[in-house]
Amino acid sequence: MNNTKYVFVTGGVTSSLGKGIIAASLAKLLQQRGFSVTIQKLDPYINIDPGTLNPYEHGECYVTDDGAETDLDLGHYERFLNIPTSQANNVTTGRIYQSVIQKERRGEFLGKTVQVIPHITDEIKHRIQILGKTGEFDIVITEIGGTVGDIESLPYVESVRQLLWELGEENAIVVHLTLVPYLAAAGELKTKPTQHSVKTLMESGVSPDVLVCRTEHQLDEKLKKKLALFCNVKKEDVIQSIDAETIYDVPNLMLQEGLDEVVLKKLHLSSENKPHLNAWNDFLKKHKNPVSEVEIGLIGKYVELHDSYKSITEALIHAGASNETKVKVRWIHSEELTPKNVSKKLSGLNGVLVAPGFGDRGIEGKIKAVQYARENNIPFFGICLGMQMAVIEYARNILKLSNANSTEMNENTSHPVIGLMEEQKNITDKGGTMRLGAWNCQIQKDSKVFEAYQNELISERHRHRYEFNDQYLQQIQDAGMKATGVNPKTGLVEIIEIPSHPWFVGVQYHPEYKSTVLNPHPLFIQFVKASLDHSKN
Ligand code: GLN
Repeated sequence: MNNTKYVFVTGGVTSSLGKGIIAASLAKLLQQRGFSVTIQKLDPYINIDPGTLNPYEHGECYVTDDGAETDLDLGHYERFLNIPTSQANNVTTGRIYQSVIQKERRGEFLGKTVQVIPHITDEIKHRIQILGKTGEFDIVITEIGGTVGDIESLPYVESVRQLLWELGEENAIVVHLTLVPYLAAAGELKTKPTQHSVKTLMESGVSPDVLVCRTEHQLDEKLKKKLALFCNVKKEDVIQSIDAETIYDVPNLMLQEGLDEVVLKKLHLSSENKPHLNAWNDFLKKHKNPVSEVEIGLIGKYVELHDSYKSITEALIHAGASNETKVKVRWIHSEELTPKNVSKKLSGLNGVLVAPGFGDRGIEGKIKAVQYARENNIPFFGICLGMQMAVIEYARNILKLSNANSTEMNENTSHPVIGLMEEQKNITDKGGTMRLGAWNCQIQKDSKVFEAYQNELISERHRHRYEFNDQYLQQIQDAGMKATGVNPKTGLVEIIEIPSHPWFVGVQYHPEYKSTVLNPHPLFIQFVKASLDHSKN
């Protein structure tokens, strides 16, 4: 028999309340009590995955070891829980419909009319239970994207209703996250929006077991009692979630409020331990009490929406704490960088990070930023497109191949130092067709990256179509830029460095996806350390 318990997290009143952080914080507390926990996100949009979405729409696309392109909340899950997620941890409406329609084409519904209920809801229930049925987890937390009452969320809420009924109340519960706004004119916190969102949920036949109330001010006992009365829960099931200084405070705040205890009680699970948060709190202490500060420029073309670079900024926070250093990020729009203003816009930086990206918008600015960092001995970290830009910059300015480019930007360049990977050449579909997920990389011993990893064989996650063109390898290495990491099977260049520079590293992969609170990424640690050294010069 499978004993996995399910916690559904729904959201009411408004979006952006931080369901992902609440789910991750609850999971952290349960994990630190000794339960094995995973978190899954159900997204109500029709894209098959966020891989084809512009970051302005949806923030960063997060990539798992097994090559799923997913919602950025999965990044929070991994950073909090320190365990990898997979394809099964993110499901979209697009994926649900795709699989139902494929079954219909195969004739699997035996002549029946295919309908939202039961066919779509059955598929949703199946996807929810995939993780539970592996037998690996005591508890699966499923975050339902969107806000209750949205048309597109209805099939998910209906599936939750059915599962609550099928699994029984001691095996599945609903945590509903809402907003208790403060009206300055009235000088009061207001419960009505929460009452309405619970009412909406109840219209679909789902009654919340626990209310988590986002608020800017403390909820007093009277208010909790009122919420409990009108929302059909006990007073102790009303949990306050007050604005926090950092998302990493939320597990402690939820611990103080007893969210984990309430959830365990409802699931008929007992645990004698209190959550062990020692290592977590060590990180927090360092994060909040830095002894030095560095400023790092993040050069990207989506900088207006910081969520586009979520994993990078979080990785800098982890690495900052590990160096007991506050990392200030200066957001620099690559489209606004010109040969004239680059030294002004980048002046005073202790490190330059050129971000991943697609297409030619803003790439000349990125190349200028690389040149500035290289010539002025400022620590440089290039990620994916950032690494490719470093190769182009070197080819143009050191090898004097003035037209050097990536064929992504100019198909007819006379010097394609970055070119489309062989296996990509016959691919026409855009969705899910990049080189995705974890690949091995063999590292040279006398390199900055070996200093960081202390390991000759590493595995990192990828998301790209273009690669370093081997035909230029000899020329580039002779001129001083070294390929210090390659894929052991294909020879693909994964890492470039300039050994004569204090710290100049470009990687074809995305190290940011693997940085967690308890395992800050070694390259980010070394980059921040190099920036710290720079700040002392
Ligand atoms: N556009 C580049 C490629 O496809 C880089 C991708 C990225 O930065 N993730 O290779």
